[in-house]
Formats: sequence, structure tokens, C-alpha cells
Amino acid sequence: MQPVKQLWAPWRHAFVAGPRPTRCIFCAAKHPRLDRASHVVVRARHAFGMLNRYPYSTGHVLVAPYRHVARLEALRLQEWQDIWALAAELIKRLKREVRPHGLNVGMNLGRAAGAGIVGHLHLHIVPRWSGDTNFMPVLAGTKVMPQSLEQLFKVLRRRSASSQAAS
Ligand SMILES: [Zn+2]
Repeated sequence: MQPVKQLWAPWRHAFVAGPRPTRCIFCAAKHPRLDRASHVVVRARHAFGMLNRYPYSTGHVLVAPYRHVARLEALRLQEWQDIWALAAELIKRLKREVRPHGLNVGMNLGRAAGAGIVGHLHLHIVPRWSGDTNFMPVLAGTKVMPQSLEQLFKVLRRRSASSQAAS
């Protein structure tokens, strides 16, 4: 995830410098009733996908298993399958809704590797645009983020006709 570090995302300061959440945000988002508050946009049997409240870029989403598990090697096959199936679905939706030029997909395992929440592993999907390291400061602003998160929540929750037909 090295290139992502170069992005200037000042709203992340609240997360990086603020107090660590006392409970796991992924475990807190398990219940479908909390989808709106937790910004959960997709669910499968063993994993789910949600917006990152402190995104590196517009459309930064996270996919996690329901199980509170830190080690990659402890994931079960069905969890792997759901994580990647949801990643593919989210990438499809992101391409349709935010039209990135590219995407970074990866995991930060352990604090030393940059993980913000070390106890519950999660896959980052970060949309990228050519030259975004330059124009991000222009777009950046904590004021616009909550609104765009809400907007993003709506459009990413919406399933395409093709994906509805497929499932
Ligand atoms: Zn957890």
C-alpha cells in the first residue's frame, strides 16, 4: 500500500491523532440493523463491506470477515471466498459510480504495517486517479466528507440490474 501513503487526506488526522475506538468497528457493524450508521454497503454470509469513515480517497471501502480475527492465516475458506467476491462486487460498483483510473487493493497486517485496527483484519479498496497525489489537496476538506459519505453510501448500496440478476 506504499503509494497510498503519499495521498494527503487531512480528515484522516481525526482518526490517526484521535482516541482509538474502544470497541472494534467491524464487530460493531455486524448487525444489518446498523447498516446506515456503520455505512455497510454489501453483505455476504461470512463477510461484509463498508465505507471507510476516514478515507484516503473518495470511495475507499473496507471488506472484513464477520469473525474477529487478526491473522490472515486463520481465515477460513468461506471467509476468503466472500471477502474476494465482495471485493469484486464493490470494485464493479466503484467503477460505475466513482469511475477511478485505478485501484489499490490490499491489507495492512499489524501495527508496524500501518493497520489502524489490528485485531480484525480487513481488505482496503482505494480508488485512485491519475495525479491524485496532486489534486487531492484541492478536493480535500473535512466539511465535504460527511456529505459525500452519505451520497456514496446511497449509490454503493444500490445494486446494478446485472448484479441483481446474478444473485
Ligand atoms: Zn472485530
